[in-house]
Amino acid sequence: PDDQFTPDPSKKNLVILGTGWGSVALLKKLDTENYNVIVVSPRNYFLFTPLLPSCTTGNIEHRSIMEPVRQILRSKKASAMYYEAECTHIDSERKVIKISDNSDVKGDVHVTEVPYDLLVVGVGAENATFGIPGVRENSCFLKEIKDAQAIRTKIMDCVETAGFKDQNPEEISRLMHMVVVGGGPTGVEFAGELRDFFDEDIKKLVPQIADSFKVTLVEALPNVLPMFSKQLIDYTESTFKEEHIEIMTKTMVKNVTDKFIEAEITRPDGKKELTKIPYGLLVWATGNALRPLVKDLMSQIPAQKDSRRGLAVNEYLVVQGARDIWAVGDCAVAGYAPTAQVASQEGAFLARLFNNMAKTEALEAKVHELSSTLNVQPGNSAQIVKDIESTERQLRRVKDIKPFHYSHQGSLAYIGSEKAVADVAWLNGNLASGGKLTYLFWRSAYLSMCFSTRNRVLVALDWVKAKVYGRDVSRE
Ligand code: FAD
Ligand code: NAD
Repeated sequence: PDDQFTPDPSKKNLVILGTGWGSVALLKKLDTENYNVIVVSPRNYFLFTPLLPSCTTGNIEHRSIMEPVRQILRSKKASAMYYEAECTHIDSERKVIKISDNSDVKGDVHVTEVPYDLLVVGVGAENATFGIPGVRENSCFLKEIKDAQAIRTKIMDCVETAGFKDQNPEEISRLMHMVVVGGGPTGVEFAGELRDFFDEDIKKLVPQIADSFKVTLVEALPNVLPMFSKQLIDYTESTFKEEHIEIMTKTMVKNVTDKFIEAEITRPDGKKELTKIPYGLLVWATGNALRPLVKDLMSQIPAQKDSRRGLAVNEYLVVQGARDIWAVGDCAVAGYAPTAQVASQEGAFLARLFNNMAKTEALEAKVHELSSTLNVQPGNSAQIVKDIESTERQLRRVKDIKPFHYSHQGSLAYIGSEKAVADVAWLNGNLASGGKLTYLFWRSAYLSMCFSTRNRVLVALDWVKAKVYGRDVSRE
């Protein structure tokens, strides 16, 4: 690619917000020669989220699952621009976005505008807290690299504080109580990783606190992992029992303080009871909420009035009621779960769509040009008519884009003790499996899905390193 990005006035500005699963899948397949491509995201890397829970314990080092966006853009045929900034407002009337550099180092200019002809919103989602008091102040989330680092630090802080001279037994129990709220795959995978960390490393290095260590998973619904089959839910629950991870189902957290959570338990007879659960580390994994930017855009579009969970899009991922705006991934509501699998298929679909739109325009221009030569070169008319017909045939083929269709490859989750659960599409049917073999499948599947060969090598080396030398328990 050219070293310099100079917007070509004859091309349209395609602005892409975000560097997550949806936007990066789009970038990967997009022919950047057709547009002035401008990427805006506060995060200058792509994050392979499926292995994020492993970073909380140091089983994988965080940089192994990050891929710099600069590296991604360098591999494109034509150069694209990247701005490390947050989009704070989309003005759909004027077709401009407002961007702001929210990083620590700011230049004289740190707020400006970018005009777009086509806009793709792939900004993902925030952590849901449902307005429950104390959640933001006291718990760790698990969505970004900094969250995983904060958890890793806090686990060891709790362990070292529990080992402090003359610490009383009650306080040791509290500090060693690791509570995870939310029994979706994020909460389950984290609880499994945490138990492994304790069993394989912490217990050996800090034996005096071994008896007090406890992991509890709190879930409001009657069971964990609602997207998996009943058989795999049962398997996960029995594996957690063996691993001494307590699952508290039908337990809704209502309030959080710095030392305990208050939750409402629904007993089998339907009676509700309030309980206080002291904790040392609290990880909050109760799913997604809308980002302010998405809320702001929705409030500008009357057709989005009834949409609650994100930008309602049509079968071509066009934001309903908006002009020239598409949405992908967790911020879009297309009728699928908010997963990386869905986001990346949506991104790849949009790349095909934009590549086709550019081809369509080029073919239409060619038809137009051929038609005008027809009048000035009547002697050549037979050949020109043939060319027009063939170009029109190509045009029809290119224009015939089928709507987005999601193809579900299955669900996979790690549940600790080198066991995983998988609900995968297999020979036109579904295969549900759990256990050690599934764990090997999980490892190889995630390794093969890593963004780059560099990521794959780093992740594989981290696994070997952790197995041979144990996880690093130094607190950063
Ligand atoms: P994201 O990947 O979250 O990316 C959003 C991007 O937008 C980021 O780059 C962000 O910095 C940027 N951004 C945010 N605000 C702005 C703004 N104002 N302006 C510009 N840019 C902005 N799914 C699976 O299918 N399989 C799994 O195994 C799996 N494991 C997961 C494990 C964890 C711990 C988590 C948290 C999620 C997991 N998921 C998994 C879900 C998956 O990560 C999400 O569905 C996926 O990341 C959604 O992709 P996205 O592109 O919509 O958003
Ligand atoms: P989730 O939405 O799947 O699960 C959140 C859970 O928290 C729900 O079961 C909900 O009942 C519970 N909850 C909500 N409020 C509560 C409260 N006050 N007290 C107790 N429990 C409460 O969230 P997630 O696990 O973060 O996953 C988000 C998305 O990412 C999902 O689409 C998921 O499929 C995807 N994901 C997939 C994988 C995987 O495939 N391995 C891993 C992580 C995430």
